[in-house]
Amino acid sequence: MISLTYKENVEAYIGNNLGILEDSLDKAAQKHLKLKAKKKSLDFGQALTPENLYQTSLKSISKTRGFLEINKTIDIHMSMFSSLEQFKRSLRVAAGTFAISGLIQSIGGLTFRGLMISGMLGVWFGAGTFVFAMQDYATSSYNPDDDHIRIGAQNTVNAAGAVAHEYTHCLQHNFTSIDVTTRNPIVEGHARGLEGIVSERFAQESNNEAYVFVHSQRVAQELKDAYLYACGKKNVTPKKSLEKLPIRNVRGWLSSYAGHHYSIGVAAMTLASAKYGDNVYKDVMKNDFNFLKT
Ligand SMILES: [Zn+2]
Repeated sequence: MISLTYKENVEAYIGNNLGILEDSLDKAAQKHLKLKAKKKSLDFGQALTPENLYQTSLKSISKTRGFLEINKTIDIHMSMFSSLEQFKRSLRVAAGTFAISGLIQSIGGLTFRGLMISGMLGVWFGAGTFVFAMQDYATSSYNPDDDHIRIGAQNTVNAAGAVAHEYTHCLQHNFTSIDVTTRNPIVEGHARGLEGIVSERFAQESNNEAYVFVHSQRVAQELKDAYLYACGKKNVTPKKSLEKLPIRNVRGWLSSYAGHHYSIGVAAMTLASAKYGDNVYKDVMKNDFNFLKT
């Protein structure tokens, strides 16, 4: 069963459903381009602080758990990256502790055991010395060793999706048979999906499309990447209209990114939900991967 989630099968699944992928890519790209055209008018909320990250996390985790119908609890640890940490991390130097060290406990009933502000390094988001491409949450992470989620978003709006994404990894690690430490494509496809579902709920609740901006960009990029990769594998000429979509290349300068496990996983989960609905995301939590069969 778990073998259905392995790269070989997932790639075959995408190859078998290329027509649906074309449709999904087109829709995702149009959605993103519409949002991009009005990006300047979107409200991305406040600069992230330990306090508002805490509030945002409560809502995001609650939405993630609610959608996936999770009742069991997990103790998690959350913190916020500083610019300095981002810098260190990019140099592959272990990051120190910063900003918040909150043990979030008993999420089922949403009771929290305190939030402490600790170890301030004096380098703050938005005011940091290092101006990086930290416009989204690319540097958020989840560590399965201690259930520690680190959020690298700059604002409360992007943090909402980032928390849902990383918390989904936490649920995968604790409650499914997927190994989150491997490059299993479904690990990322599933997390990206929850990020989208939760972001959409935030957007609807607050009538603010900014919540779906970053997700829409990622999905469009990843679907395009997966599509071109799948066409290459099948020796099929990609549709010109899709190949020429003005969607930034997910590969960037790193040409080996083509067919990256993120793209493949996002494509597979997007296809599966197009075929069977969003319940496929719940199926993953039940270790049911039959939706990846054909
Ligand atoms: Zn991830």
